[in-house]
Amino acid sequence: MPTLTEKKSIRPASRAQGRPAPELIFGDLWEYDPAPETADPKLKARYDLFIDGRFVAPKSGQYFDSINPANETRLAKIAQANAADVDAAYRAAQNAYTKVWGKLPGRERAKYIYRIARLLQDRAREFAVAETLDGGKPIKESRDFDVPMAAAHFFYHAGWADKLDYVAPGRRVAPLGVVGQVIPWNFPLLMLAWKLAPALALGNCVVIKPAETTSITALKLAEIFQDAGLPPGVVNIVTGFGDTGAAVMGHPIAAKVAFTGSTEVGKIIMRSLAGTDKKMTMELGGKAANIVFADAPIDQAVEGIVNGIFFNQGHVCCAGSRLLVQESVAAEVLAKLKNRIKVLRVGDPLDKNTDIGAINSAEQLATIKRLVAAGVKEGATLYQPPGVLPAKGYYFRPTVFSNVSMSHRIAREEIFGPVLSVLTFRTVDEAVEKANNTAYGLSAGVWTDKGSRILKMSTELKAGVVWANTYNKFDPTSPFGGYKESGFGREGGRQGLLDYCQLA
Ligand code: ADP
Repeated sequence: MPTLTEKKSIRPASRAQGRPAPELIFGDLWEYDPAPETADPKLKARYDLFIDGRFVAPKSGQYFDSINPANETRLAKIAQANAADVDAAYRAAQNAYTKVWGKLPGRERAKYIYRIARLLQDRAREFAVAETLDGGKPIKESRDFDVPMAAAHFFYHAGWADKLDYVAPGRRVAPLGVVGQVIPWNFPLLMLAWKLAPALALGNCVVIKPAETTSITALKLAEIFQDAGLPPGVVNIVTGFGDTGAAVMGHPIAAKVAFTGSTEVGKIIMRSLAGTDKKMTMELGGKAANIVFADAPIDQAVEGIVNGIFFNQGHVCCAGSRLLVQESVAAEVLAKLKNRIKVLRVGDPLDKNTDIGAINSAEQLATIKRLVAAGVKEGATLYQPPGVLPAKGYYFRPTVFSNVSMSHRIAREEIFGPVLSVLTFRTVDEAVEKANNTAYGLSAGVWTDKGSRILKMSTELKAGVVWANTYNKFDPTSPFGGYKESGFGREGGRQGLLDYCQLA
């Protein structure tokens, strides 16, 4: 073990190993040695569909590229499923449901789910690297948040599988049958766990489609299903674009569909399924308000604001993308915020010191740029810290807009990037009114010293989750979901289980 003084990682960049000083990067006070996080992510060159317990080629024979957003190189080829592949997946799921999974006692299902959680823990580092390569999020997030939280969801729901009598005391719960699920790219593995674990615990079988830019960890998890001996057909993974998603959502065998993604696509799905007897849950967009009162611990609040919007490049539907700050402390909060984001490191997601990694795709980067340009055009004041972004890859500076008004697009539309809009308020009522004045209602944050104010705000804010003196905290025991155009249904906790069963 080197002593602290021997560690090259604490030397200034210009002196490290006689190398020429690298160009100035964000937060560049010191240059660190490369992190050992580049463990072999064991990627295959080509990923097939996972149907009936086996990897199978798509019927069309077509594959598309999964790109590493950090450097725009191809990571792997991913199978493109068509309607016939989706149909085969549903038939396998139905077969598994009627013959095996639906009949197993809960305590037997629990053993499989528990095994999946343990195997995922065993391969945690490999999964974290794969997630970061495929999605662009900083390794410290995939390593410390996404993968452990995905395992936690399997553990938690394994614990429920033999205690289903307590899901709705006095009622008997039964599975729904086969469930179709479509998920987005911001938390590829975690969303997968979040959707699969409750469905499986209750005895359902699943057909699931990951997002087209982030399919790799889903297919790696399929390897774990094989290793865990999960009966064939219980989980089927089909990869592809929106048309594959539409086939998953619309298939006649699906007793329920669960979707996480944009409000726009959620509406398309709801329209297409209107009149069918499918159960539905939707977790859609958000435009959360993070509300800071004058009596809040300001330094702590600034950390919470930074975590709320810059965490995962702002690729979070519950991101605190609107900061509502009480007028008397607005100047202080803004100054501290600017100071804080000056030292955020933007760059290689595999570097464990990186705070803000790569934007997930070229399309998403273009959307962010478009909305930021709209903010400037509408008259808001833009602040971005100086620094050079990597030449290759999709990156965006942390951005703070002040002098924002409620009518600005940046205050109303979901940007899904590291962009914060700052608004001010004077009274509690004004804060509530501004926070609720949005089409969305997924989450909110309140920073104050007063417990009574927290209770009042959490009652009056129309948001599925309200964090108090913290932000972006998740736990499998805690239900998550939205109001209004942020969707309906809950995921996590006992409430989440209710959305995957029928009650008798
Ligand atoms: P985002 O804006 O987060 O990318 P999208 O709603 O576009 O969210 O995508 C979320 C998921 O929905 C992805 O897996 C995508 O392939 C899928 N998808 C896109 N269009 C449709 C559709 N019409 N029906 C079902 N799924 C779709």
